[in-house]
Amino acid sequence: MKYVIVIADGMADEPLDEINGETPVVHANTPNMDFIAREGYTGLTKNVPDGMTPGSDVANTSIMGFDPSMLKGRGPLEAPSVGVELNDNDVAFRLNFINVKDGAINDFTADHITTEEADELIKALNEHFGDIGQFYTGVSYRNLFVISDIAMEDLKSTPPHDVVGQQTSNNNLKPENEKSKLINKLMEDSVEVLENHPVNKKRIEEGKLPANMIWLWGQGAKPVIGNFPEKYGLKGATITGVDLLKGISTYIDLDVIEVPGATAYFDTNYQNKVDYALESLKTHDVQFIHIEAPDEAGHEGNLPEKIRAIENIDSIILEKLLKELPNIDEDYTIALLPDHPTPINIKTHTMSPVPFAIYSTNIKTPDDTQIFSEDMSQGKYDTIIGHTLLNEMIKISKE
Ligand SMILES: [Zn+2]
Repeated sequence: MKYVIVIADGMADEPLDEINGETPVVHANTPNMDFIAREGYTGLTKNVPDGMTPGSDVANTSIMGFDPSMLKGRGPLEAPSVGVELNDNDVAFRLNFINVKDGAINDFTADHITTEEADELIKALNEHFGDIGQFYTGVSYRNLFVISDIAMEDLKSTPPHDVVGQQTSNNNLKPENEKSKLINKLMEDSVEVLENHPVNKKRIEEGKLPANMIWLWGQGAKPVIGNFPEKYGLKGATITGVDLLKGISTYIDLDVIEVPGATAYFDTNYQNKVDYALESLKTHDVQFIHIEAPDEAGHEGNLPEKIRAIENIDSIILEKLLKELPNIDEDYTIALLPDHPTPINIKTHTMSPVPFAIYSTNIKTPDDTQIFSEDMSQGKYDTIIGHTLLNEMIKISKE
């Protein structure tokens, strides 16, 4: 039996006037998603426990089969994929390069700065502030800052994508103490170093937004989540363009399959993702395939791109999986779900439970759900706890 879990990050949404009151996944052309829903079991899953922030780290840890309450921040989860092993006293912050205009956050991605440009800026930050902590290059605007001070873990920081348009000074780390002052000042001081950097001068010349400030958030110490092969007795692997999810996978002992062209953006190489997944399934029991594009479209409020991302997942990834999986193993179980909603009109993650559908060669009598949508009221399941989804898949495969 092979298990495949396709995670369409941020896909769940709300009815939109522009598409006659339909949600993007209902409006999009998705014959394969609908097949999985129609021929399988469906329901809702609560991937974000009450009281936790609906981040992709929390939601995806649930989907990967672990209670996310052990997570402390996304910084440490991104550390493994930049090659950083945290010591016991280390706290890792996610570092966003952002664009600031008139003191307010204008773009939390700094206009999707390239990794090469980010690397130059990280060098400059290490030169100027290397005595405070270490800066590491990640992917595009997503980078890392590590400081050897465990007390930094308890500060309250703000994800920049939640406060676009707001003054940076209104979103400082809290509570106000020596520790928060140090980090707030570091962010403020970064402006001077970055503004006059040749990388940014060139970006302005090219009509792009400069990456003129760093934003530090999502910090935490090394997490203890659990071990996938030990807990499930299965060998698993992850495909994703997002460092955060590579990190979670590393900590729980899932193999990370590097896929050329997996950009975690609209231009990601869907074809490579499915091809590498099928190859990986020859040697793994469980394959997670995560696609970031619908979430990015949600954050940008870009409905056409969201629909296009959903259709790409359907027509490239699911189409080929459903066609080729029987050639790898005649028994297979495939699940499709978002990690959390990223509604077009809200532009950030919400807490709502998300729809899931599980198709298995073992299912004889599917439930009454006919299409994949946010409404799973006809499904076999009501609302399950996110980290039990994998157990349900295993149970179904043994029915
Ligand atoms: Zn997400």
